[in-house]
Amino acid sequence: MEPADVVVIGAGANGTSTAFHLAKAGVKRVVVVERQYLGSGATGKSGALVRMHYTNEPEVRLAFESLKYFQHWKEMVGGDCGFQPLGLLVFTPPEYPAHLEANLAMMRRVGVNTRTISPQDAQELDPSLWTGDVTRVAYEPESGYADPNATIYSLARARADLGVTFQFETEVTRVLIAGDRVKGVETTKGTILAPVVVIIAGAWANQLFAPLHIDLGLVPRPGRVSVFRWPMERSSKHMTYIDKIHRMWARPIDGNCTLVGTESVFAEPGDPNHYSEAVSQDYINACRRQLSRRFPIMRQSVVRGNWGCMLMDSPDSRPIIGQLDQYEGLFCMAGDSGTSFKTSPAIGKCLTELITEGRATTVDLVPFRATRFAEGKPWRDEFNYGLETGTISR
Ligand SMILES: Cc1cc2nc3c(=O)[nH]c(=O)nc-3n(C[C@H](O)[C@H](O)[C@H](O)COP(=O)(O)OP(=O)(O)OC[C@H]3O[C@@H](n4cnc5c(N)ncnc54)[C@H](O)[C@@H]3O)c2cc1C
Repeated sequence: MEPADVVVIGAGANGTSTAFHLAKAGVKRVVVVERQYLGSGATGKSGALVRMHYTNEPEVRLAFESLKYFQHWKEMVGGDCGFQPLGLLVFTPPEYPAHLEANLAMMRRVGVNTRTISPQDAQELDPSLWTGDVTRVAYEPESGYADPNATIYSLARARADLGVTFQFETEVTRVLIAGDRVKGVETTKGTILAPVVVIIAGAWANQLFAPLHIDLGLVPRPGRVSVFRWPMERSSKHMTYIDKIHRMWARPIDGNCTLVGTESVFAEPGDPNHYSEAVSQDYINACRRQLSRRFPIMRQSVVRGNWGCMLMDSPDSRPIIGQLDQYEGLFCMAGDSGTSFKTSPAIGKCLTELITEGRATTVDLVPFRATRFAEGKPWRDEFNYGLETGTISR
C-alpha cells in the first residue's frame, strides 16, 4: 500500500476529527484505517450531548472550544451536524451548593454561558419536571445535542475534499516499530509505512497497545440507552438533561421520544469483540425508573427502542490524549470514558497541533498526558459533588 505521512487508526468522532484537522493543517498523505465503517464504534451510537458542565477546567475548555464548531458547523467543516441547542439542565446533589457555584464560576471564566436557576424557573422551561429534591439547577441555554452520524459523515466528506484516504473494512493488526520509533502499520490488506501513527481505536485500543507493551489501564465497558415515547400528557418542551442525583441523562429523539441512559446500574467490563448491540430488560427497567424520578409522567411511557455498544474507560475516567513516550511518532486518544463526542472537534485540533507543531495551543493537552498514572497523579476533581469519578459522565 502507498506510504503515508500520518496513519489514523479508527473512524469514530475523534479519528475523523483528527484526520480533518491534519489535512487542514497541510499534512498531505493522511490515511484513516477503519476495521468496519464510519461510526461503527461508540460514535454512531452516542447520545451526543453537547454540554459544557464538567467538574474540571481542561475538559470544559475542550467542550467550549468544540461548541464553536457545533454552532458554526457549516462554515468551519461544511455540511450539517444536526446540532440542536435546546438548552441543558444539570441536576446536582443539593448538599454541595459550594461545588455547584465553584464549577459554574470556573465555566464562566472560560467563557461558558451558564447560571443557576430556581426549580420554579426550571419547571417553566419543562413543565413535566419534578424538582422537589433541588434548590438550584444549573442551566446552559446554548448547549444541546447533535446527530453523531451526521457529524462524522460531514467530517468525512470534508476530509475527502482535502485529500484524506479512507481504508474501510481494514483492520490494523499491529503498529510497526523500528528501534524506538514508529514505522507504520500492518493491516489485513497490507502494510502502510508512516512516521506517525495515531491510535484512536475506542474500546479496541488494548489490542493495539498490548503488542507494544503499553498498558494504560483501559477497561472496555458497555454503553447503553433506551428510547421511550412521550405519554399523552408529557410537555413537548423537552430539553437536554444530566441528572447527577439519579445518575441519568436524557434528550429528545424523533420528535416525540426521550433517549435516556443511566449509570444507576453497574456495567460489568465487556469484550469489544463479543458484545450485544441490544440491552437487557433489566436495563430498560432501570432507565424507565430513573427517568420517571425526574419526569413522573414517564412512568406511563412505551418503550420504543434501545441499543448498546462498547466504550473504553481510563483508570480515572478522563481521556488520555497525546504522545506516547515509548515510541517516537506514536500518539493516541484513548479511554474516551463515555464523554468524548462533544469534545472531539477540539481533540482533533489539539492532536494536530501536537503532531505538526510539537505543542497543543488551542487547549493545553498536558493534563491529559498518559504518564499521569505512572507519576501517581491520576485525575481528581475538587468539586465533584461527592460522587466517585465516572458517574453519569455524558
Ligand atoms: C450510549 C452512549 C452515549 C453517549 N453519549 C455521549 C454524549 O452524550 N456526549 C458525549 O460527548 N459523548 C457521549 N458518548 C461517548 C462518545 O460517543 C465517545 O466518547 C466517542 O464517540 C468516542 O469516539 P472515538 O472516535 O474515540 O471512538 P469510537 O467511536 O469507538 O471509534 C473507534 C473506531 O476505531 C475502530 N477500530 C478499532 N480497532 C481498530 C483496528 N485495529 N483497526 C482499524 N480500526 C479499528 C473501531 O471500529 C471504531 O470505529 C456516548 C457513548 C455511548 C455509547
